[in-house]
Amino acid sequence: MTTTPLIGLEVHVELKTKSKMFCSCSADHFGKSPNTQTCPVCLGLPGALPVPNQAAIDSCIKIGLALNCSVNHLSKFDRKQYFYPDLAKGYQISQYDQPFCENGFITLDSGKKIGIERVHQEEDTGKLQHTTIKGEKVSLVDYNRSGVPLVEIVSKPDLSSSDEAKEYLKKIHEIIKALGVSNADMEKGEMRLEPTVNVHIEDEKGSHYTPLVEVKNINSFNFAQQAIDYEIKRQIDDFISSGIEKSNTNKTTRGYDSIKKVTFLQRTKEEAKDYRYFPEPDIPPFVIDDIYVENLKNSLPELPDQVVANLVGLGVEIKFAKIIAKDGSMLKAVLELRDDREIDIPKLASLLANKKISVGKNLKADYQSLNKKGNTNEEELTKIVEAIIEANPGVVAEFKKGKTNVQGFFVGQAMKQTAGSADPQTLSKIVSKLLNQ
Ligand SMILES: [Zn+2]
Repeated sequence: MTTTPLIGLEVHVELKTKSKMFCSCSADHFGKSPNTQTCPVCLGLPGALPVPNQAAIDSCIKIGLALNCSVNHLSKFDRKQYFYPDLAKGYQISQYDQPFCENGFITLDSGKKIGIERVHQEEDTGKLQHTTIKGEKVSLVDYNRSGVPLVEIVSKPDLSSSDEAKEYLKKIHEIIKALGVSNADMEKGEMRLEPTVNVHIEDEKGSHYTPLVEVKNINSFNFAQQAIDYEIKRQIDDFISSGIEKSNTNKTTRGYDSIKKVTFLQRTKEEAKDYRYFPEPDIPPFVIDDIYVENLKNSLPELPDQVVANLVGLGVEIKFAKIIAKDGSMLKAVLELRDDREIDIPKLASLLANKKISVGKNLKADYQSLNKKGNTNEEELTKIVEAIIEANPGVVAEFKKGKTNVQGFFVGQAMKQTAGSADPQTLSKIVSKLLNQ
């Protein structure tokens, strides 16, 4: 029997726009006193009209572009109907068949491409709080989060292990942070993960697929990985004992208990038809032109994979490049010193990444003092200096005419050739000896 997990991921990202998706209430809701940031629109009162937030749509499309998606020239919002107490309107404004962005991909370090099905815009719901008041169990609802812009990134089921899923999620997280469109703080629920898992099983009887399971609302990479591993094993065991295969009606939703490290059944999953999607009648469709998309594309910062590639291009080891690419201040320091001939960038990167040295105004001095005990191998350094002297007869002639300060030129050149690793005193001694011969 061979088993191949098929894993897809839905990632919800809360955007950090000033105002909510369809009204002017503040979108900065975390820790605010309940129901203080609401209005008729985000409370879903009858007759209130939504006005789309341009900055949120820009951010959504930037995410799509950064994930190599194509942008749809025609797009629209749709109503997704479902009942839940934290959804005041009885429907969520989302996107169904014409999302802003589709058909992208992310490349894992192995070179494997993971398809991105769609990147669409929607709004967040309110928050329920289950508590006890005067001995009575009650559920309270806070609508401050209702209507906060949310982007959903849906991958294809191209991931085949929990390690791949974790790498994919980390890359998405880094890209979102680099774009600056969300703080993506998982503890605050600003990035929420929902893996969909099933397993392709081949045995002597043929090819089988286990029923699809969506694990809801996970808030850490490790929990996502654990939930996926648990599901793969559970589904294989389940198939062996029951023989039940995937059908159109047996997709289920499960939760993840991070303490017991198990998933548990929540409900049978709604199908798209259960949501009775229809075009949002209060928001006209969008016509998105090439110039707008081109401008957004040009506004994208350098993305993490490119930053790592650039550092590797400077000779930095890939493991250090990844650490530095994630740390804005380290990256800035490395790039600022890139052309400094007294600094060996790969060495500086390794010192920074290993926390042997830290960013600050003394960085260069600290680097140099750490490298003081540089190369004192006279034989080696002599060869280098000899070659420089031979290549620069003009400068040697000036020295012979009495311009002794050109010695510094030879020391500098040798320092550059040794990428700053030579001991300056030894080097000066050799230069002066050779020039005076
Ligand atoms: Zn509002």
